[in-house]
Amino acid sequence: MLMAEAEPSHAMDPFKVNKIAEQLAQKYDRIKRIGLWLNQGSCYVQEEQEKFKEAQARLHQGYNPKMRSEISRLKSFENLKSYSSCSPSERAKGGFYCTEDGSYMQCFCCGFVLLGTPQDKTPYICHQEFQPNCDFIKGLEVGNIPKYEVRVQQNIDIDLDKVQVYSIEEKRVESYKDWPNYSKADLIRLARAGFYFTGVRDTVQCHCCGGTLSHWEQEDDPWKEHAKWFPECEFLQSKKSWDEIAHLIKEYDGFTGISVMYTLNSVAYSLYC
Ligand SMILES: [Zn+2]
Ligand SMILES: [Zn+2]
Repeated sequence: MLMAEAEPSHAMDPFKVNKIAEQLAQKYDRIKRIGLWLNQGSCYVQEEQEKFKEAQARLHQGYNPKMRSEISRLKSFENLKSYSSCSPSERAKGGFYCTEDGSYMQCFCCGFVLLGTPQDKTPYICHQEFQPNCDFIKGLEVGNIPKYEVRVQQNIDIDLDKVQVYSIEEKRVESYKDWPNYSKADLIRLARAGFYFTGVRDTVQCHCCGGTLSHWEQEDDPWKEHAKWFPECEFLQSKKSWDEIAHLIKEYDGFTGISVMYTLNSVAYSLYC
C-alpha cells in the first residue's frame, strides 16, 4: 500500500536556507576582517596569515621610542587603511600605533601586532589578553607619554645644594648616568643647556631657574626648549643674546598639539591634546 509521503518536518524553505547561507557568509567575512590575532595563532584565515607573514619582516621590531607618546600614536592612525570597530583614540591609549603602510596596529613597547578587535573589547583589553607580559600592560615605567601629562613645570623645589653642584657642566653630565633607555635625547646637549637629570623618568631641571622638562624626543633641541619655556632664566641669558633667544623661540617647533598653557601657583602647566 502506498502511503502519501509526508514532507519531513525538518525540511526548510529554500528561501530560509539561502538567508542562513548569506548570514554565514557575512559572519565569515566579518571574522576575516576584524577577528584576527595572528601573533598568537588563535584564529586562522590562511590568506590573511600569509599577508601578515610577508609584512612582518618590514615591521618595526621591539620597542619604538618614536611612538611612546599617545599623541604621536593617535596621529599615526591618519594613515589607517583597514577596517576596525574601535576608534583611533582607543588604539593609541591601548599602546598601539599604525604601521607606516597603514595596514596594522603595533604596540610601541613589545612590538605586538593586533589585526583587529571584536566589538565588545577595547584594544587595551586585547593587548592585555594576548601580551600580559608587555611592560606597558604591566604598568611599568616604559616611557609612555599619556595624552594629558604635564610636561613643563617652573621653579619647583629649588635645592640650593644642587644649584651649586650643577652649576658645573661636568657635574650635570655625570647626573645622566642612570638616564632611561627609552628616552633618546642628546644628553651632552641637555647638560650644556643647563639641565641636570632629576632621576625621575626623563625629567631634567635647570640648575639656575629650576624649570623642569620631560618627555624628550631625539630631535628636541634643549636650548630651544629652555628659551621657549623659561626665557627669563639668567643662565640662558648669560649664554645667549636676546636676539638668539628670540630666534630660538621663533624657531620652536615642538608640541604642535599644545592647546592649553596656564599658570597655577607659579607652576606652569602645558596640556597637549
Ligand atoms: Zn605591548
Ligand atoms: Zn634655566
